[in-house]
Amino acid sequence: MNDTFKHKGLRQQLVNILINKGITDAAVLKTIGHIPRHLFMDSSFLDHAYQDKAFPIAADQTISQPYTVAFQTELLKLNRDSKILEIGTGSGYQTAVLCELGAKVFSIERQLELFKKTSKFLPKLGYRPRKLIFGDGYKGMPEEAPFDGIIVTAGAPFVPTPLLSQLKIGGRLVIPVGDTVQTMTLFIRKGLKEFEKHEFGEFRFVPLLEDKN
Ligand code: SAH
Repeated sequence: MNDTFKHKGLRQQLVNILINKGITDAAVLKTIGHIPRHLFMDSSFLDHAYQDKAFPIAADQTISQPYTVAFQTELLKLNRDSKILEIGTGSGYQTAVLCELGAKVFSIERQLELFKKTSKFLPKLGYRPRKLIFGDGYKGMPEEAPFDGIIVTAGAPFVPTPLLSQLKIGGRLVIPVGDTVQTMTLFIRKGLKEFEKHEFGEFRFVPLLEDKN
């Protein structure tokens, strides 16, 4: 697994693109400058790894666009030691970003192939999420709740209630909501049944799959 000066240079250019697009969180930018994104993609896509684009991975899924990863991570406002649930492990790139920022990461993937591949791959790069499971993200991870933050990395047709109820008071759910186009939405839990909602413009994700489709 090769990470060359060329890759590092390309990553720095990517960081500059993200700064120009409005990402300001220094820790997030540093993390993106550090993680070898090309290793999370099939080798035929090597040249594309440091463009600000989503790309295909296995099982008809995509590795999220770096801007989207940065934007969602920024919205989580995590600290070292934050307990974070990710829905949609995919390639593990977002998972690695969260680990690198010091979070205790729990992640769910519903494609067996990706779950197996990414579970083996992340430790090879030195990333050790607390728990990766093969399961349905609509249900969250009740056995590990409550969480400081929950990040959904697929487009949700609606906001799954279990995710809201698995937040700590003060916790943040970052979720793209919509069918073909999604509105990036942040919920902050203010009380047992009180949530503050903020919306942040349009993004495009692969769908958060229901049942067995
Ligand atoms: N964070 C990933 C994004 C992958 S795309 C990355 O950066 O690579 C979204 C992922 O969500 C896909 O891997 C898809 O299989 C997964 N997914 C879709 N529906 C899901 C569900 N109901 N529960 C958990 N994961 C789901």
